Amino acid sequence: MPSPLLPPSRLRRVENFGHSISAPAYVFRPTHAEQIAELLTFAQERGLRVGLRGAGRSYGDAHLAAGNIVLDLSRMNRILDWNPDSGEITVEPGVTIERLWQYVLEDGWWPAVVPGTMKPTIGGVLAANVHGKNNWREGVIGDHVTRLKALLPNGAEIALTPEDDLFPALVSSMGTLGVFTQITLRMRRVHSGDLLVRAWAVPNLKQMLADLDAAKDEWEYVVAWLDGTARGKSLGRGQIHTARYLTPDEDPHPARTLRVEYQTLPDNFFGLFPKSIFWKFMRPFMHKPGLWLIDGAKYLGAATVGNNKTFRQSHAAFNFLLDYIPHWELAYGRGGLVQYQCFIPLENAEAAFTEILETTHRFGMPTYLGVVKRHRPDRYLLSHAVNGYSLAMDFKVTRRNRERIQKMVLALDRIVLEAKGRFYLAKDATLTAEHWGASLGEETLRRYFALKKQLDPNEVLQTDQYRRLFAPLKARYASGHA
Ligand SMILES: Cc1cc2nc3c(=O)[nH]c(=O)nc-3n(C[C@H](O)[C@H](O)[C@H](O)COP(=O)(O)OP(=O)(O)OC[C@H]3O[C@@H](n4cnc5c(N)ncnc54)[C@H](O)[C@@H]3O)c2cc1C
Repeated sequence: MPSPLLPPSRLRRVENFGHSISAPAYVFRPTHAEQIAELLTFAQERGLRVGLRGAGRSYGDAHLAAGNIVLDLSRMNRILDWNPDSGEITVEPGVTIERLWQYVLEDGWWPAVVPGTMKPTIGGVLAANVHGKNNWREGVIGDHVTRLKALLPNGAEIALTPEDDLFPALVSSMGTLGVFTQITLRMRRVHSGDLLVRAWAVPNLKQMLADLDAAKDEWEYVVAWLDGTARGKSLGRGQIHTARYLTPDEDPHPARTLRVEYQTLPDNFFGLFPKSIFWKFMRPFMHKPGLWLIDGAKYLGAATVGNNKTFRQSHAAFNFLLDYIPHWELAYGRGGLVQYQCFIPLENAEAAFTEILETTHRFGMPTYLGVVKRHRPDRYLLSHAVNGYSLAMDFKVTRRNRERIQKMVLALDRIVLEAKGRFYLAKDATLTAEHWGASLGEETLRRYFALKKQLDPNEVLQTDQYRRLFAPLKARYASGHA
């Protein structure tokens, strides 16, 4: 419903990354912190709500605010300071991961933690507190921030270091407690633009989890592709990739490999097919028989010619594999996709993942893409990580299966809660407040709502995800002090 308080020229339809949800909103794209402060005051005075948005790469409704204001921070994208000796960089929140690594690489640095795509903004990744394929070793992105500035809806501008009590709450709070306006991160020293990668096939889930666990101390990065179509004795089969940084004497040409052009992913496949249209070729295979064919062939290749291979790969190619096919998400068709990612403690992981995968088969919806990673717990208020593993699964959404997906994920949520697992808001589009609350526990919820009351008493910062997951819990948990 259009708001009479806001200019119609700002009204747009805003979509999630998975193209499965969209909502109209008044989009403002500030270039300076003062404009953010003005907009927060404006919203406060008129009883409007504001949802923050970076690059919109969250899978669900974390950056939507139906009928209200979306504050798109992607134009606040200046690099404010860079020290190539210490590896410390200060940026505005709209700087992307792509811009960041391209800026620091030739001086021999790489961001210590990156997600599986380089498109997100630093503000967005800090709000979600993202992890990479090296979560066990390097923790989350918040662990590499040395200072930040944020604007609070109550009008205050604050500067925080990791020692401040508010730091682990603001980081991970998905833009619901304050707006990051300046972030200082410490990069990781690298001596080459290449990583040493090893790949091998694993015949079932048990072996996959055992191998990921064993590899985590020897390798910097550990990640597994899981074949969602496999069942019975092969349930959970897949391929593991591990990687480590090169030592100073291992790369004879660091000046070459540390160049952006060396890392940049090619525009064409085999020098012929433009990558920008490749998703169109994927589309005819995006159904169950196509999935069986592709996953079967991929596993066969991994278990034969690709098995036990060691090779060198650039940082960008290893970390941002999904960016190889621009707009791959469009291949899922009109209904888009949802991703379901859960995090299960070590001791419960095998049983819970087995039940989860069997449930996807029972519902007739094997995942189109399954990824398993090894994690460690952290200190952040709305942390998703545990000492254990995560399983991420993509599902194609159609008009006919929407309800079935919702039923299935409710069943999956119960398995996760039973196994003392956690959920991840950056990926979520389907959780219920009840399940979200149960995963966080009473103490965390009381602390969160006490902070919300202190920092955002009029609840100006409210994304659609906040309204779905937090707002229904407020009455029960919002009595305490921060
Ligand atoms: C292909 C793909 C692969 C991915 N791989 C991984 C992965 O490996 N690991 C992982 O952890 N995540 C991964 N993600 C998730 C992604 O990293 C997160 O969703 C990230 O938050 C997206 O950042 P964004 O800039 O797009 O922010 P948006 O999606 O626009 O927003 C994310 C959240 O940040 C808030 N926000 C945005 N800017 C600010 C700000 N300046 N201050 C305060 N809050 C703000 C928003 O309100 C929202 O709640 C992946 C996503 C995709 C699409």
